[in-house]
Amino acid sequence: MARYTGPVCRLCRREKMKLFLKGAKCDSMKCPIERRPYPPGEHGRTRLRSKDSEYLVQLREKQKARRIYGLMEKQFRNLYKEATRQRGVTGENLLRMLELRLDNVVYRAGWGASRAQARQLVRHGHIDVNGRRVTIPSYQARQGDVISLRDRAKQMIVVRHNIDTLDRAVPPWLEVGGEGAQVTVRDLPLREHIDVPVREQLIVELYSK
Ligand code: SF4
Repeated sequence: MARYTGPVCRLCRREKMKLFLKGAKCDSMKCPIERRPYPPGEHGRTRLRSKDSEYLVQLREKQKARRIYGLMEKQFRNLYKEATRQRGVTGENLLRMLELRLDNVVYRAGWGASRAQARQLVRHGHIDVNGRRVTIPSYQARQGDVISLRDRAKQMIVVRHNIDTLDRAVPPWLEVGGEGAQVTVRDLPLREHIDVPVREQLIVELYSK
């Protein structure tokens, strides 16, 4: 599976906002957005002054969502196609499916400091879904699924540290149990419960062209 391996802070700077891709560094003064809040590259500062076209605004919104959830273009587009096939508002369907990815649920549960770290926990076999190990980060959680840390993961210093220190508010569609080592997908996430700064309608407009 192809994935972006370049400097992630550059992605935030390109979107001119914090995307929280690096865990603890994002909340510290080391965050490059604090010191250089303009796009990277030789002409980064001039981009701040130029007026963006409608297409560029739509493109940036899509890139932002893709980068927040850590998906490559093909995966993201496939998810969009799936969203168009479902009932309801396409943009909301898309965000809901992004939220229900297993790596995102692990991140929301506070076990991973970033979605990238949460994905690694899944890939390395530290997560069970309904009592069975699942190692696919794109696994779509369903209503009623019980997602838990495996015994070894519960002892891992990084996981313990995340649970003790992150203090991340778990969204209302997840129910925490098992002393923080288990979450149940109580409901499907509603738009108002998804706190990502993305205008999904612009993504739909971009892909509908
Ligand atoms: Fe983005 Fe976090 Fe890097 Fe800041 S530290 S630029 S929020 S990834």
